[in-house]
Amino acid sequence: MEQTFIMIKPDGVQRNLVGEIIGRFEKKGFTLKGLKLVTVDRAFAERHYADLCAKPFFNGLVEYIVSGPVVAMVWEGKNVVATGRKIIGATNPAESAPGTIRGDHAIDIGRNVIHGSDAVESATKEIALWFPEGIAEWKSSLHHWIY
Ligand code: ADP
Ligand code: MG
Repeated sequence: MEQTFIMIKPDGVQRNLVGEIIGRFEKKGFTLKGLKLVTVDRAFAERHYADLCAKPFFNGLVEYIVSGPVVAMVWEGKNVVATGRKIIGATNPAESAPGTIRGDHAIDIGRNVIHGSDAVESATKEIALWFPEGIAEWKSSLHHWIY
């Protein structure tokens, strides 16, 4: 079953949006496979966003991510990578549809509350980076009501 890496960014944690965000993924029917509150350092944030290192906003983005604790999660389910991105909404909250997490809870592209992997391959890489200890196996008892 497909997995994705979802991170509630420091603004989402500081603004008490953790429960709201987790609830959206839970209610959709996805399964929580990994979860931790962590504060990462610059080198780690730079690795996570390595693909964006040439962007003019890279330094500000790294400072944002290291500015406080984040909630790192692995969610599992059919098409969870693409559907997770839909639940999150467009990168720029000015363009995120109402009903999405960013559309409902953010205004500025530099404070857009949440990260979600953009492809299955990046999800695999990001899960390995954020959860080097691995993910415990378990199967939700709701499974056969959802699939
Ligand atoms: P997404 O998070 O939707 O996958 P990107 O991978 O393109 O978006 O960018 C990563 C993050 O970098 C965004 O979520 C946002 O926090 C930040 N970012 C992207 N573009 C800008 C920008 N123009 N100015 C400031 N921050 C930006
Ligand atoms: Mg991205």
